[in-house]
Amino acid sequence: MSLSWITPADRVQKLPPYVFARLDELKAKAREQGLDLIDLGMGNPDGATPQPIIDAGIAALQNPANHGYPPFEGTATFRQAITKWYNRRYGVQLDSDTEALPLLGSKEGLGHLAIAYINPGDTVLVPSPSYPVHFRGPIIAGGVIHNITLKEENNWLIDLNSIPEEVAQKAKILYFNYPSNPTGATAPREFFEEIVAFARKYEILLVHDLCYAELAFDGYQPTSLLEIPGAKDIGVEFHTLSKTYNMAGWRVGFVVGNRHVIQGLRTLKTNLDYGIFSALQTAAKTALELPDSYLEEVQTRYRTRRDFLIQGLGELGWNVAKTKATMYLWVKCPVGMGSTDFALDVLQKTGVVVTPGNAFGVGGEGYVRISLIADCDRLGEALARFKKAGICYQQEAVVSV
Ligand SMILES: *Cc1c(COP(=O)(O)O)cnc(C)c1O
Repeated sequence: MSLSWITPADRVQKLPPYVFARLDELKAKAREQGLDLIDLGMGNPDGATPQPIIDAGIAALQNPANHGYPPFEGTATFRQAITKWYNRRYGVQLDSDTEALPLLGSKEGLGHLAIAYINPGDTVLVPSPSYPVHFRGPIIAGGVIHNITLKEENNWLIDLNSIPEEVAQKAKILYFNYPSNPTGATAPREFFEEIVAFARKYEILLVHDLCYAELAFDGYQPTSLLEIPGAKDIGVEFHTLSKTYNMAGWRVGFVVGNRHVIQGLRTLKTNLDYGIFSALQTAAKTALELPDSYLEEVQTRYRTRRDFLIQGLGELGWNVAKTKATMYLWVKCPVGMGSTDFALDVLQKTGVVVTPGNAFGVGGEGYVRISLIADCDRLGEALARFKKAGICYQQEAVVSV
C-alpha cells in the first residue's frame, strides 16, 4: 500500500518553494555534465574551524559527563561565556540565567520564536529582501506577512514611515537584520534608536538578527539592538557562531534580550528538543574567548575578497558599493533580466553559482547575491569565465539628441 493519500499539513504546503533546494538540483545536474562549479551561492563559510575550538571539542568529547542529555536551557558555563562576550563587545550587562539562551543554530531559534509567539492571523512585519527564515518561520506559524520593501536609494534601510498606521497598530513582531544578508547593508545607530522608539510606541516585539556581528571591515563596528536604551523591554537579538568561527556545521547560536520572550521560546523548545550536545557547548565557549587577533584574520580574509571581486566586477561594468560588513555582494542583474534568469544564465554559461535575489523575497528581484566564500584565485577564475562568456553589466544606453 502506498501513502499517496497522505499529504503534508497546510502549513508546509503553503510555503513558497525553497530556492536554495532548487538551486541544489541545478548544481547537481551541472556537476553531472562535468562542469567545474564555483559555488558562490550559499552562506557557508569555506574556512576550517580554528584549532583551539576543535581541540576543546575533542577533549570535551572524551568526558563521559558530556554524553548524556544536555540541560534544556544550555550549560551554565556556555551561558556565562555568552553574557561575558556580550558585555565585552557591547558594554551591556545580561543575566546569564534568564536573558541568554543557547540555540541549535540561530535559524532554529528564529523559526521557533515564530511558532512560540505568532497565532494564526497575527501580523508580522518583515523586510523584503530578507533572510528566508524571517518570513518562512512566521508563514509556518500561520502569520500574515506584511512586506516592508527595501530600496537601494534608501541604502536598503527599513523606511518606518512606509508602514501604514493601521498595519503598525496591529503588528505583533518585526524581524530585521543589519548588517544584512543578502544586501550587505549596515544601519547607523540612529536607525536602531528610531526602530526601538517605533516598537515601543506600537508595542511590537523587535527581533534583530545580528549574525554578522563580527564580520565587519574598515573599522566599522555593527550596533547591537540591546545597546539602545529601552531595547531590552521590547526586543531580542540572535547571534551565531557559524559565520565568525567557520562553525556552520556545528549548529551553535544563541539569543539574548527580553527575559519573558526568551522564557516563551525556552518553553517551546523544551517540548521539542534537548539543545546542543554539551561537548559542543564547551567548544563554543572556547570560540567566544578567542583573542581579537583571530577576528582580524577573518575580517582581513573577507575584506580582501570583497575588494578583489568589486574591482573585477567593476571591469565588467558593475559599480558595486563597498560593503562595510557581511560576506556578500549584492549585485544588480543586467538591464532587462530577472534574478532567476540571470542566475541560471550565469550557471549555464560559466558554472558559477550565484543566488537569485528573489530567493530572499520579492524585494530581492533584479539582484543576485554573490558570497565571498572562495579564495581570490577561484574568484579570479569566476571573473575570467564571466568575461569569456560575455557576462557583464551594461548601463542603459544614454540617448543623445
Ligand atoms: C547564516 C545566517 C543565519 C543562520 O545561522 P545559523 O546559526 O547557522 O543557523 C541566520 N541569519 C542570517 C542573516 C544568516 O545569514
